[in-house]
Amino acid sequence: MSKITDDFASMVFHDRIMKEKLPKDIYQNLQRAMHQKERLDEDSANVIATAMKNWAIEKGATHYTHWFQPMTGITAEKHNSFLSPVNHNQVIMEFDGKELIQGESDASSFPSGGLRATFEARGYTAWDPTSYVFIKDHVLCIPTIFCSHKGESLDKKTPLLKAEAVIQKQAQRILKLFHIKAQHIQTMVGAEQEYFLIDKTLFHKREDLRFCGRTLFGCKPMKTQELDDHYYGVLKPRVKDFMKEVNEELWKLGILAKTQHNEVAPSQHELAPIHMITNIASDQNQLIMEILQKIADKHHFVCLLHEKPFEGFNGSGKHNNWSISTEDGKNLFSPGDTPSENAQFLLFLCAVIKAVDEHQDLLRLSVASAGNDHRLGAQEAPPAIMSIFIGEELYAILDAIEKDIPYQNQTKKAMEIGIENLPVFLQDTTDRNRTSPFAFTGNKFEFRMLGSSQSIASVNTILNTIVADALDSFATILENADDFQLELHQLIKATIRQHRRIIYNGDNYSEHWKKEAKERGLLQLSTTPDALQYYISKKNIHLFEKHQIFHVNELFSRHEMLLKKYGNVLHIEAKTMLYMIKSNILPTLLQYQKELASTCNIKKEVHKKINIDVEKNLLLSLSDISQKLFTQCEQLTKQLDEANSLTNSQERAHFYCTHMKQSMSHLREWIDYAEQQVPSSIWPYPTYKDLLFSE
Ligand code: ADP
Ligand code: MG
Repeated sequence: MSKITDDFASMVFHDRIMKEKLPKDIYQNLQRAMHQKERLDEDSANVIATAMKNWAIEKGATHYTHWFQPMTGITAEKHNSFLSPVNHNQVIMEFDGKELIQGESDASSFPSGGLRATFEARGYTAWDPTSYVFIKDHVLCIPTIFCSHKGESLDKKTPLLKAEAVIQKQAQRILKLFHIKAQHIQTMVGAEQEYFLIDKTLFHKREDLRFCGRTLFGCKPMKTQELDDHYYGVLKPRVKDFMKEVNEELWKLGILAKTQHNEVAPSQHELAPIHMITNIASDQNQLIMEILQKIADKHHFVCLLHEKPFEGFNGSGKHNNWSISTEDGKNLFSPGDTPSENAQFLLFLCAVIKAVDEHQDLLRLSVASAGNDHRLGAQEAPPAIMSIFIGEELYAILDAIEKDIPYQNQTKKAMEIGIENLPVFLQDTTDRNRTSPFAFTGNKFEFRMLGSSQSIASVNTILNTIVADALDSFATILENADDFQLELHQLIKATIRQHRRIIYNGDNYSEHWKKEAKERGLLQLSTTPDALQYYISKKNIHLFEKHQIFHVNELFSRHEMLLKKYGNVLHIEAKTMLYMIKSNILPTLLQYQKELASTCNIKKEVHKKINIDVEKNLLLSLSDISQKLFTQCEQLTKQLDEANSLTNSQERAHFYCTHMKQSMSHLREWIDYAEQQVPSSIWPYPTYKDLLFSE
């Protein structure tokens, strides 16, 4: 066997290892727990813990940690060593079932949005056996959920697991109507990850990159991305070495990193793994982001995961490819070979159409963040308006069904849905509309609004819940039907009629679409504070409570946490901008003005008639800019104080979103102008040219 196949998943306690290391009955108990069928008993947990510990120690691990995803969006871990003293100078390596199954941690510093008072600061972590345990940096990592002492979820994994169970239940009801008994149904996700690689030395010279992950100013260089010469271009040797090591690390963790290429912007790249069960894909995406950053550091790069690190260049997103499949790998979004399979396919398709239309607000808010606000709608990423692309052929089929008119393909048959007479069709999978936020691409939906730094857990929690809700309503109607075929036909017809407005096959980046979307009554939520308020709308509280994904308290707490985070990000950006202007940019401008003034004087001393227009005009312009910068900085400082005095997170977020962003945008405009007026040798920060076009 080659080294790569030998090493693949060598750091994962996966199914084959479990089978090898565990007694048969314990292995079967664990399998049942993994399929969320029953809880693991204490004896089994002890045996599993010992097997895991021995395996981990063989691989060089010394510690274990419950690895979880609090609402910070990144993963958290607190390492405990396996060491346990037996007497003064002797230790043994211990790890039992209790430690595997449940942990307790002082969680007072994690965001809770008011769910947890400081006096009850303990948070609990509980093993999620549906995602494999793995070793990272000599630590045995146990994927866990994280909740408060009352059981309210404080993380991103718990709701995702609940939503996965809900969609399984509802999809099973639908399949049963088509006489298919599916033991287990799961959603599958492949998350394509975009990122920038920046030279580490240059990165450390800019406070905005260090503290905000993005540049707060920087004028466009002479060349940006207009020649499209970076996209799919040849990888630079240093980048290639970096990617090779990233792949090796990911493969060891059982992550099927499959494709890698240069993206549109210079220094921008993409990595895509092969799709996986959503819960695992979500854990793996967190690991991918972590490993990209870790390996970048080793190669003297910094990996930027921010959604919009450089204005004027494409930002970075994450495409969430999503499908539903049965345990034997049958994809429910694949049009089948028979009329019956196609009727079933159309029903699932309609469930998604209904879900996206009814819950545009939820999908939009699932991708809302301060960073992503710079990207959505900037002619490079989908706009902040939800719509679905389904391609011309599928659209024609749905249209024919709704209007009871013949479908114009070779068969020219009326599209009356009936299991017997629905014609077989093959939809065109090649027509891919890259501008659509939610595109059907043959056998999966590609949700393209996610920001590059976001966890995919929340998006898939929402996607699973809203589609499950649509399937629930379909199943209820069809289960009570006297004539199944007739009811099915009517249901599909009515759904298309009711939700057709969400289907859009045209150019989503165009101004025309914005107008048309308004006429169609689609939501347009361009900023994060606008979108987040829908978290606690009556409709959404009802939806999440009905499917027991979130209790109303949990929704309020999440709303609060996200608003707070938004405000905090803008607060840090404003403070960083002020620091950079006052400590480096203004002093540079003043120094250069002094130089210009003395050049004027010296030249005049040489000859009274000597022309000093260049120096004078530059001086005038820079003096004017400096004055403006100074005044606007004063204003921004006042606004920061005002924002601090606002105790209501909603008000505070809106204040940042309107007033502070505007001040920062003025400052940026003047700084970018000034950057072009002073010699590059004295500009205090690496420029876009240095950052994006360095070797
Ligand atoms: P793109 O053209 O957008 O790069 P690809 O065809 O390369 O798209 O696929 C991108 C991602 O979609 C990969 O992560 C892939 O594993 C995933 N994918 C493919 N099929 C499915 C599916 N049935 N369900 C979920 N994800 C899928
Ligand atoms: Mg894609």
